[in-house]
This record gives sequence, structure tokens and C-alpha cells, in this order.
Amino acid sequence: MTDSDDFTYDVIVVGAGVMGSSAAYQIAKRGKKVLLLEQFDFLHNRGSSHGESRTIRVTYAKDYYPKMVLHSEKSWEEAEAEVGYKVYFKTPQFDLGPKDSKSLQSVISCCRKNSIPARILDHDEVIKEGWGKFQLSDEDWIGVVNEHGGVIRPTKAVSMFQTLAFKYGALLKDNSEVVDIKRDDSNGGILVRTKDNQTFRGRKCVVTVGAWMQKLVQKVSDKKLPIQPLQIAAYYWKIREGHEDDFKIENGFPTFGSYGEPHIFGTPSLEFPGLIKICLHGGDPCDPDNRAWTEVNSVAIIAIKEWIQSRLGDLVDAVNGPVIAQPCMYSMTPDEDFIIDFLGGEFGNDLVVAGGFSGHGFKMAPIIGKILAELAVDGKLVDVNSIVELKYFRIKRFEENPKGNLEEENSGDHVKQCL
Ligand SMILES: Cc1cc2nc3c(=O)[nH]c(=O)nc-3n(C[C@H](O)[C@H](O)[C@H](O)COP(=O)(O)OP(=O)(O)OC[C@H]3O[C@@H](n4cnc5c(N)ncnc54)[C@H](O)[C@@H]3O)c2cc1C
Repeated sequence: MTDSDDFTYDVIVVGAGVMGSSAAYQIAKRGKKVLLLEQFDFLHNRGSSHGESRTIRVTYAKDYYPKMVLHSEKSWEEAEAEVGYKVYFKTPQFDLGPKDSKSLQSVISCCRKNSIPARILDHDEVIKEGWGKFQLSDEDWIGVVNEHGGVIRPTKAVSMFQTLAFKYGALLKDNSEVVDIKRDDSNGGILVRTKDNQTFRGRKCVVTVGAWMQKLVQKVSDKKLPIQPLQIAAYYWKIREGHEDDFKIENGFPTFGSYGEPHIFGTPSLEFPGLIKICLHGGDPCDPDNRAWTEVNSVAIIAIKEWIQSRLGDLVDAVNGPVIAQPCMYSMTPDEDFIIDFLGGEFGNDLVVAGGFSGHGFKMAPIIGKILAELAVDGKLVDVNSIVELKYFRIKRFEENPKGNLEEENSGDHVKQCL
């Protein structure tokens, strides 16, 4: 790409959740003219990037994620240094589950392959090392501990990326719903039209519209991306009086993931004093424009209650249910891997889509922003090429196999891989 003389913008980014905001920052930082469009108010809570906490952890059952997380850990800190405040709070990660869980065993082998020092602890070692708040009462459960865990403050992180994008000259517009994206046949480039009938012209366009991805892409092309919106909620539970300090992040309580059924994840006490976030990975299909807004999913709550009672005993009040429930959405792909690719068709390589972050993308937003900047500006991966294996995120994987990267025999166990 040369200069932006004939184009109003070098890149128009549609959707200002964490991915679009990170991309806008990275593209603007490269000296390009960027427009970031958001359908609602900035920092709204109707998508996937709002709230109080997201886990960052390096323990994955798939080989291609740990290096992306390790790179993102550094990039979170670089962005924090640039903006001057913190969004990322470190703590260890504690994974637990049945010893014979395929997913947990894959996590362990993935750590080994990626040279991540993870320690595998049995019941006695968990107590001896001070992780005994988690009860592995069944002899066949193990704990896996490593130092690469932590909490990211999501709304603050999105605000950080938008602030940095603005600092580098990006134009940010909210309450601007994009209703059409098409090629400019006369002048070249891409035309983006909003609901209030404004048209913007960009050399390239990046679409990061989260749970709205399938709808928008289908509207502007003949492609149907397999991205299913799910409604879920983040649940906060009351720590029993007298035990509050034990669960605090500053006292070393870890972020955690529990494998086997149900798949549970949680973060230490940080955002609400005396409360701990414990959630179920998964939710019910929904229409992002017509949500039930049900905060309480009774099936999920029963599963989490049982898990708390068996794994944290009396230390957390499961009986009285969660005290806070914050609705949110996942954008699920069949294999829970992201979709990051050129849309192709009439758009060729001028329109990049990034979605289907399947409930585990937030932690990697810094590297996703870099990937999108490189695809939009350079037309290929450059600096992050050695870290990102884009083939796992291509649209074409679903043309070859509707389950994408999932092998037939693994499809039952795949849901336990992410959080
Ligand atoms: C409860 C919960 C817990 C999670 N926990 C974790 C975790 O612990 N760790 C982790 O790594 N990840 C986690 N995730 C996943 C992570 O939050 C998401 O992967 C990430 O936020 C997705 O960001 P996004 O930018 O793709 O989507 P969004 O945040 O939804 O952003 C898309 C934006 O596009 C806008 N938009 C849509 N259509 C249009 C249009 N036509 N015109 C203009 N704008 C439009 C939307 O309004 C929205 O603002 C969790 C998600 C949830 C819901």
C-alpha cells in the first residue's frame, strides 16, 4: 500500500469490540488512516467485550495457541506502558480435572511442546503446595500449575485500545451501524455505508462484528460463516465470611479451569470484594438482535453449584446462588477455532474478517490486532508470521470439513478445550 491520496481511509474497521479496537490501534500505529465504526455506544455491554474480567492463560489443548498467548502477554504490557495504566493483572493458572481427561492430557503435552514449565500435582501435592482450596477428593484428579495466568479488565482494555488508536490519528465513530459493504467498481477500494446513509471509502476493510458476523457477511456476500451466537452469563458467588482473603488475586489465588464435565472456569477475587467469578463454558443459541436477556440459566447454575460444592466445599456459598449475573455472548465456530481470513469472492483480499472467537479470544486481542493490521496493510503476515499458523483460522477449512479443524473422533471432547 502506498499513501492514501485517492482514498478517504486506508482501512475501515467495522465493529469496536476488543478485536476491532485492537486492530484500529495497530493499523493507526503503522501510520495508516483508519476509521473505526461501531453500531452502538462505545464500550456498550451488548456484545462480548464488556465486563469486569477475562482470563489470560497459556494452557491450551491445541498447539497453535500458546505462542499466540505468550506474544500477547508482552503486547498487553507494551500497550499498558503506552497508555499509562494497567489492564492486566498476573497470577498463576491452576487447571484441574480427571487424570484421564483427553483435553487435560493434551494441555500437558502442549505445555511440554511449547517449553512452558507446568507442574503436574496429585491430591497430596496440591495440599502440600498450598493449592488445597481446590479439593481433588477423587484420587484420579490432578492439578496442573503454571505461572502464565492472569486477569484482564475487559472494558478498560477496549477503552485502552481505542485511546491508543485515537492517539495515532484514527477516527472513531459510534452509533454508526454498517448496513452495506461493497466494492467501488468505478474508483476501486471498498464502500462502507451506515444506517444513517453515510458512505465511507477505504482502500481496505476489516470486519470484526462479533456475534453479528454471520448476519453482516451474509448480507454483503454469498458466504455464510459458521459462527453461532450463544448467550451466556458471568456469575459471581459469595465467598464465605472469614475466607475472603484466601481468594484474592494479590494473595496469589489463581485463575482456574476445571476439565471433565462440566467445564468450569473462574477468576480470583478482584473486581468485587468478597466475590469470586465462577462460570460454565457454553450457552444457548441466540439472535444477537433479539436476545432474551435472561441473566440466569438454571441448568448452568445447577452445574456450577454442584462443582463449587464438590471442589471448593464450604468456602464459597453455592446454596444461595450467584449474587451477580452479567449477560454476554459467545460467537462459536464448530471447532472453537477463530476465523481470520480474507473474505474472498468479489472482495478478494481487500476485506478481512475476524470472528468466531468462541469464548476464548480476549486474551489474544493484541496479536489478533497485529494479524489484522498485517493482512489489511501488507496483504500477508509479516512480523507475526512465525507465531501465527493462519491455516487453522482460514474459512476454507469448513469447505473441506463442516467441523473445521475437528477430527471426527475428537468432536465429543472438543468443547473442553477453551475458556
Ligand atoms: C462471559 C464471557 C466470558 C469470557 N471469558 C473469556 C476469558 O476468560 N478469556 C478470553 O480470552 N476470552 C473470553 N471470552 C471471549 C472474549 O470476550 C471474546 O472472544 C471477545 O470479546 C470477542 O470480541 P469481538 O471484538 O470479536 O466481539 P464484540 O466484543 O462483540 O465486538 C463486536 C462489535 O461489533 C459491533 N457491530 C456488530 N455489527 C455491527 C455493524 N453492522 N456495524 C457496526 N458495528 C457493529 C458490535 O456492536 C460490537 O461492539 C469471554 C466471553 C464471554 C461472553
